[in-house]
Amino acid sequence: MDNDLLKSASTPIYYYDADLLRRTLEALTTAAAIDHRFKVHYAVKANARPEILSIIQNTGLGADCVSEGEIKAAVNAGFPADRIVFAGVGKTDKEIRLGLSYDIECFNVESMPELEVINSLASKLGTVANVALRVNPEIDAHTHRYITTGLSENKFGIPMSQLDQAVDMAHSMSNVKLRGLHFHIGSQLTQLDSYILLCERINDLTEHYLKQGIEFEIINVGGGLGIDYNDPDANPIPDFKSYFELFHKNLKLSQSQEVHFELGRAIVAQCGSLLTRILYIKETPTKRFAIVDAGMTDLIRPALYQAHHKIELIDDNTENNCTLLKYDIVGPICESSDVFDTDVELPQLKRGDMLAIRSAGAYGEIMASQYNLRRLPGAILDNQ
Ligand SMILES: *Cc1c(COP(=O)(O)O)cnc(C)c1O
Repeated sequence: MDNDLLKSASTPIYYYDADLLRRTLEALTTAAAIDHRFKVHYAVKANARPEILSIIQNTGLGADCVSEGEIKAAVNAGFPADRIVFAGVGKTDKEIRLGLSYDIECFNVESMPELEVINSLASKLGTVANVALRVNPEIDAHTHRYITTGLSENKFGIPMSQLDQAVDMAHSMSNVKLRGLHFHIGSQLTQLDSYILLCERINDLTEHYLKQGIEFEIINVGGGLGIDYNDPDANPIPDFKSYFELFHKNLKLSQSQEVHFELGRAIVAQCGSLLTRILYIKETPTKRFAIVDAGMTDLIRPALYQAHHKIELIDDNTENNCTLLKYDIVGPICESSDVFDTDVELPQLKRGDMLAIRSAGAYGEIMASQYNLRRLPGAILDNQ
């Protein structure tokens, strides 16, 4: 980080390191090249800042979108429509029509009623929709319950028990073309074992359908690869090599099948930090609070998912001494959950000091809200 650039920044503000983003993308594309059938889509919902989309688009990735707004943002950033996939349990008619008018690569369909609506809208527009069926594989991803998606109690995907029926239904429709199966078991997965289970589930399913003479062109394994929130400097780039090798080794595919990956967090999380300044230090009989000018409105992950982000002092080389004190880092919002972390050891802090809340490039700025009628945070793009 360039300290002079930061000193003048008006906080709270997101800081993005474009150079780290490019290096991350390079590591990803190198690792994915292990198999010519592998294609990666960027999950736009993690961060849709236009400059970031543009850098990602330049490396040739596709886009995984979940709304009309995201499809438009992807198209505006230059993603070709035939590399755009559209997921989500609640697609509106307007959104489906938009996807059809762009002739996007694939709709990832989450229920049979949705399949009927897509077929009927495509028929009215005189077109054929490319679809994949999202399967709920009933696999525990061992992540926070708010970001696990592949369990039978989750709202996502078609239950395994209804999949045969959904496949038959898609085949009977004249305005949908069934191209594949889609899976996404959750986010911030740090144990790759869950992906091995996923591969086994996929192999069982593809074998089951091959027996009926059905081969899917596309197997979409979703995203969810986790990052190191505890030590972003030691692990700024996720282990893409092990991730892609796992699928290369464990998925049984034919030569003509494609495997789609939809990564969000793993691509953008580490290149972003939320910068904030200390407003007040408040000492009570039980606690020492550092009250900062960023709140859960700027970065909701700690309040929403009990997520941990490393917090550091951006040293301005003044008289911060090196004895460490424990602080609860809290925001100004009128909610008790507006806490970034508790008992963080930091050099003695004073009003005006700047902190960096690290690994905030994914599900940070994009989730910001105006609760308490606050202004949305701005952003600085460094090393562009
Ligand atoms: C959110 C989401 C992703 C991306 O998840 P990450 O954990 O950011 O990689 C991929 N696919 C689907 C269907 C999603 O909902």
